[in-house]
Amino acid sequence: MKKLIIANWKCNPTTLKEAKALFESTKANLKNAKGVEIVICPPFLYLLNLNAKNSRLKLGGQDCFWENKGAYTGEISAAQLKDAGCQYVLVGHSEREKYFSETDEIANQKMRSAIKAKLKPVLCLGDSLEEREKGNVQQALFRQAEKALKGMKKDEIKNLFLAYEPVWAIGTGKPCSVGEAQTMRLYLRKILAKLYSMKISESVPILYGGSVNSKNAKTYIAEAGMQGVLVGGGSLDAKELADIVRAVR
Ligand code: PEP
Repeated sequence: MKKLIIANWKCNPTTLKEAKALFESTKANLKNAKGVEIVICPPFLYLLNLNAKNSRLKLGGQDCFWENKGAYTGEISAAQLKDAGCQYVLVGHSEREKYFSETDEIANQKMRSAIKAKLKPVLCLGDSLEEREKGNVQQALFRQAEKALKGMKKDEIKNLFLAYEPVWAIGTGKPCSVGEAQTMRLYLRKILAKLYSMKISESVPILYGGSVNSKNAKTYIAEAGMQGVLVGGGSLDAKELADIVRAVR
């Protein structure tokens, strides 16, 4: 299975001109990046203006709404993302919880809509600093996974990806240690085995996200055994992202 590198641009940049320039320079820097899957998740309104055709880049949404369409002011549905050319969508990113009070139950609804729209959902799970300090990391991951995947059948999660994203490592420049990332990867596999089966547990790719850069990216793959990385800040610099991709290939 190819390694997956997801670039989460978050609410950046501020103009379409800059977004196009970043996309084109990312494309140029990665034109020879064979053997990896690279997904760019820009702000929604740039999706239709970024030309991923004939490139190594795929498009993804940073979030999606749980209904297909209707009177939901300001929302973007999974079906609309699919129509805009997305193949992937992030679900349950901790910034959605932090700034928009999203719950695990909402992540579950979003997971369902992503699957219905035939998008590949990347479910983000992670412990807060408080949970970590109290020694509740595994309980936090189990709670999030159990709730976000509630009621989802085995055949519905065949395109599922998990991303272990400790909240305290996101955008802080303080990445999770490789040993801890490996422990959490194994624990996420245990959760999947408990909720589904051993076979499913082994088949779901698990990524790491949280202050990934070109210097530490390789260790998460080679030592922690992750199948890819989710990159926020580092993806806003096309050359840095290309160096991360080169490091994990
Ligand atoms: C993220 O947005 O999920 C992320 C990991 O951000 P950063 O790489 O900036 O920590």
